[in-house]
Amino acid sequence: MTTASLIQPYNTGPMKCKICGKEAIVKLRSYNLALCREHYIEFVKRRVEKGIKKFKMVRKDERILVAVSGGKDSIVLWHVLNELGYDTTGYFLNLGIEGFSDESQEVAQKFADMFGLTLKVEYLRDVLGVGIPELSKISRGKPCSLCGMIKRYLINRAGLEFDAVATGHNLDDESSVLFGNILHWQTEYLERQYPVLPRDRTLARKIKPLILLTNYEIKLYAEVLNLPHIVDKCPFSGGATTHFYKGILETIENEMPGTKVRFLLGFFENKAGFKVPQTRHLKPCKKCGYLTTAEVCSFCRLKEKVENQFNLR
Ligand code: SF4
Ligand code: ZN
Ligand code: ZN
Repeated sequence: MTTASLIQPYNTGPMKCKICGKEAIVKLRSYNLALCREHYIEFVKRRVEKGIKKFKMVRKDERILVAVSGGKDSIVLWHVLNELGYDTTGYFLNLGIEGFSDESQEVAQKFADMFGLTLKVEYLRDVLGVGIPELSKISRGKPCSLCGMIKRYLINRAGLEFDAVATGHNLDDESSVLFGNILHWQTEYLERQYPVLPRDRTLARKIKPLILLTNYEIKLYAEVLNLPHIVDKCPFSGGATTHFYKGILETIENEMPGTKVRFLLGFFENKAGFKVPQTRHLKPCKKCGYLTTAEVCSFCRLKEKVENQFNLR
């Protein structure tokens, strides 16, 4: 599937790169910066490096597990981290969604092969006995919240062998989540919203190195470097409230460039002032031992339900 090019045509005549004076391929309104192809690639790498340093996410001598879905965010994340000299291994979870999961895995593997990187693959059907389509029957509707919980659990479990787990959440994802959390004053989520969460016993360190880059900037990077990535969406996706919030923030951004990054960074800087109550009391799950807020964690409860419902014992 092909998409229209993101390189901006200039009807006012060619625009020059602010750094070298060559023809620009993009004008970034939030920074009032026009850049050529080469300096745009540099810009993206510098934004990632800046995010990593600002929030002290990870060091060059540490090992990172990159959660790769095959979509543009995780592919760009893996590419930039590798280019910056970080020690990375990819992790792909095959969710068992016909067509989509295998195609995504092929793309992730193709990328790994192109750059001589290692991709670890785990199959949900091997772990649970069923894939996401069967779980959608249990959830009687969209399986996304179950799928999200499963991904968090399995990515965390795989990440414990590493110093940090990197995910492809970007500025649009994080600012829209923040917007929703503030609209509904979900204080527990506000407390945990930060680009790095430190390791805590059976919880791996989580980092979000794309936090300073927008969806558009990431897509453009994938386009100019021709990085393989899956464009098709998961058949279960669509209609999420975060898409609605993203649309609202985009409208504000178009009027006031730079709002999204100021909104998110302002929250991180003022977070301490929120005095959010410490609501999470973590203890080991009675079945698997991983930290949870309940007696038995959601993953183990789901596993039991699946075993009973699908007679897998
Ligand atoms: Fe999982 Fe697909 Fe929902 Fe994403 S859209 S959470 S991959 S089921
Ligand atoms: Zn240039
Ligand atoms: Zn458990």
